[in-house]
Amino acid sequence: MRLDPRAPLVLDTRELGRRPGSQRRMTFEEPAPADLGIEVLRVPEGSPVRFELRLEAVMEGVLVTGTAEAELEGECVRCLEPVHDEIVVDFQELFAYEDSDTAATSDEEDDEARRMEGDLLDLEPLLRDAVVLTLPFQPLCQDDCPGLCPDCGARLADDPGHQHDEPIDPRWAALLEHQHDQQDQQQDQQHG
Ligand SMILES: [Zn+2]
Ligand SMILES: [Zn+2]
Repeated sequence: MRLDPRAPLVLDTRELGRRPGSQRRMTFEEPAPADLGIEVLRVPEGSPVRFELRLEAVMEGVLVTGTAEAELEGECVRCLEPVHDEIVVDFQELFAYEDSDTAATSDEEDDEARRMEGDLLDLEPLLRDAVVLTLPFQPLCQDDCPGLCPDCGARLADDPGHQHDEPIDPRWAALLEHQHDQQDQQQDQQHG
């Protein structure tokens, strides 16, 4: 599949002229692609992602260094309250020229070295990897979120003194029933 030069996250590096040492700084904003993040925390599709990048031509390709900033939305894993946050991810990645030997002969760990297509490079897979690596996998609405009441599901952070009039724990229920029986017996004796 060839890259589309008009795609929002595809950069054209022609200006660098493949001259090692030539550089270009770029600051731009693009809408977030779909499915950026993990199930419980993601960058909303279409929300702005702000990039600040430096592209630098090196022998084997183009080195991309910089940051991307984006909004996050998700759910607290303890109480399911919506979580809103921001993320800043750092990049430093070499995109090898298509015809570069360096990347082709690199060891197995580097097998997935990113490649350019002609003068084009695609930031999207780089952005995806960086975002997923940076996200907390257990988002919380607050660090000490007490979660939900195990009996009724109420959010304990909203109601810290949360209690139930009728204890629902079966051991308590049994104890209460026993007390009621004793009261009944006492009443019977009084009437008798
Ligand atoms: Zn929470
Ligand atoms: Zn409760």
